[in-house]
Amino acid sequence: MSGADATGWAPASIAVAGGRGTGAPGEPLNVPPLLTSVYRAGGRIDYAREGNPTWEAFEETLGALEGGQACAFASGLAGASAVLETLPVGARVVAPDDAYAGLRELLGDLAGRGRLRLALTDIGDTDATLAACEGADLLWIESPTNPLLTLADLPALVRGVHERGLRVAADNTFATPLLQRPLDAGVDVVVHSATKLISGHSDLLLGATVTRDRRLAGELGRHRVLHGAVPGPFDAWLALRGLRTLPVRLERAQANAVELVRRLHEHPAVARVRYPGLPHHPGHERARVQMRGFGTMVAFEVAGGAAAADAVCARVRLIVHATSLGGVETTLERRGRQPGEAHLPPGLIRLSVGCEDVEDLWADLGRALAVPGGGGRP
Ligand SMILES: *Cc1c(COP(=O)(O)O)cnc(C)c1O
Repeated sequence: MSGADATGWAPASIAVAGGRGTGAPGEPLNVPPLLTSVYRAGGRIDYAREGNPTWEAFEETLGALEGGQACAFASGLAGASAVLETLPVGARVVAPDDAYAGLRELLGDLAGRGRLRLALTDIGDTDATLAACEGADLLWIESPTNPLLTLADLPALVRGVHERGLRVAADNTFATPLLQRPLDAGVDVVVHSATKLISGHSDLLLGATVTRDRRLAGELGRHRVLHGAVPGPFDAWLALRGLRTLPVRLERAQANAVELVRRLHEHPAVARVRYPGLPHHPGHERARVQMRGFGTMVAFEVAGGAAAADAVCARVRLIVHATSLGGVETTLERRGRQPGEAHLPPGLIRLSVGCEDVEDLWADLGRALAVPGGGGRP
């Protein structure tokens, strides 16, 4: 585990220059993927479950971007699981009812086995969320949420939660530290699926926690050693390689998203577009205040419902019909097809906007949407 940055550099510089080792003459510019399970005795690390310099290079860079101490895990859910494991048995957790489906499944599993007690809340409703926090131990925030793009009022929730003596965690996967720094808002620990925008090329699984609380950082590091959800060195190396270009990828993908949203909003086959950048989005004002941009994730509802949305997914050619998000390639998926997502509007498509040419993207999406009602023919 490593983190913190005293350079005063802007994020785009940290992303490029972070995690470069000590700077000694002859040192490789990039910390290489260090493939070993054992180290010769007498050094800083004995065994690879305890540490790896390639993880550290990634952690140093992500930690500096988020403003805390980062700890890399084998996946985003492994990081989330580590945070939940810091709670005592029977602890009460409040989480968004529209949080990432995998997290809700994990929480449901833990609650079902008596490991913890769970209350789901509309995270966009600050009063209801704080009421649910009475007597709880942890508030889990996701903002914007996956896939409905609900915005939580970070400062208000943190204030209310700390008054009540709870810890607060925030999944920052959708925003990334470039658009939102929850630790600055007082959040105790940030969780990332680095599988997504941070690594950015859909070629690995990785997660991370970031915190300023030294004791919590120590607990999370110890959890990683004992529970063994350690990242592969090669995955950590690829993730840092991806993180180097996050500022550039994000800028391009976000500009593409804004343009696609504008056109989708005007399209007759689209019933509703959800994007925090739209003035009528319920979380628009919050996003303007607490985020530096509206992001690369869009959700839209196809007027013809599930069948019409499935037809759109089947017709795209440049855009990839696949789950997951945050890669350089644009992907889309009708989320209702996933288990545990039956509560979503049936025609809701989640669009993860990538870095292709925006006119090509619109030509593809426009053609896929073209058949009135989204019928089955190409
Ligand atoms: C994908 C995702 C996760 C889980 O991350 P994995 O790397 O797949 O384990 C957690 N939160 C959000 C918001 C996600 O999109």
